[in-house]
Amino acid sequence: MENILTTQAKETKKIRSVFTVKKKQFITPHLIRVVFHIDENQAELLANVKSGSNNKIFIPTEEKSTIIRTYTNRKIDLEKRELSIDFVAHGDNGPASAWALKTNPGDLLEIGMKESTKPLVPTADFYLIAGDATALPVICAITEQLPSYVSAKIVLEVAGKEDELLLRSAADIAVEWLYNPHPEQGSRLAEKIKSIDFPPGMLKGYVYIAAEYTTVHELRNYFKTTLEWDPHGMYICSYWKAGQAESQ
Ligand SMILES: Cc1cc2nc3c(=O)[nH]c(=O)nc-3n(C[C@H](O)[C@H](O)[C@H](O)COP(=O)(O)OP(=O)(O)OC[C@H]3O[C@@H](n4cnc5c(N)ncnc54)[C@H](O)[C@@H]3O)c2cc1C
Repeated sequence: MENILTTQAKETKKIRSVFTVKKKQFITPHLIRVVFHIDENQAELLANVKSGSNNKIFIPTEEKSTIIRTYTNRKIDLEKRELSIDFVAHGDNGPASAWALKTNPGDLLEIGMKESTKPLVPTADFYLIAGDATALPVICAITEQLPSYVSAKIVLEVAGKEDELLLRSAADIAVEWLYNPHPEQGSRLAEKIKSIDFPPGMLKGYVYIAAEYTTVHELRNYFKTTLEWDPHGMYICSYWKAGQAESQ
């Protein structure tokens, strides 16, 4: 199997390589952490890829072609030579979730990613960060990378109490959890976010939201139209759409 393929674009190097599963663990009842081994060549290629950046995974199928899905490089640990991806276990109705449920150490997965020197979020003094279970990996990475002199309000929606994770940060973070065992049937995230007041002394606020399409659509309208929020001060992105497979 083809191993490593890189293309040098003007600024960002694209990396596409086949990784070997080293271990797999349910870190909560609905989140599977798959840890891939990073070999010596891959360690060189990944030197400038940030934890929390996006990737594309190429899931093998019975037929010739692969199925592509978008995930997050939850953690790239070059010392331990480990790349971790956290998969929401939403059943075997999706090829990516199904792959994560049945994968075992020794399995191979082709993963593509880009070098990423930019911080995950731009500079601000206050962050409103929210997401559902699919955004937990990127939000954990963001909070780990926030500096100590900023503060953040974080709202996360997961299936239940036992799906909460400990978020680590040097920043002053306040985390609130919502529970929703059936995210494909709707979410309370939008309602919750709309009830949040920004701190009175805030100089520069940044909004980061990643969740299901309907929530994202509603919140994009809210910040853009109702609050007339500076478009440079927000990232509001649909991570999946209920009832629909990710389009390739
Ligand atoms: C930039 C980016 C980063 C992402 N990072 C992550 C990540 O780190 N971890 C992660 O788990 N997901 C992540 N996602 C979301 C992930 O790509 C989607 O959930 C994707 O649809 C999963 O693919 P699948 O093959 O399992 O299901 P698909 O074949 O895409 O969908 C099959 C069915 O499953 C439903 N479905 C898909 N996702 C969910 C879900 N989470 N809960 C309930 N039903 C669902 C669909 O609505 C559809 O009906 C990310 C998305 C983006 C855009």
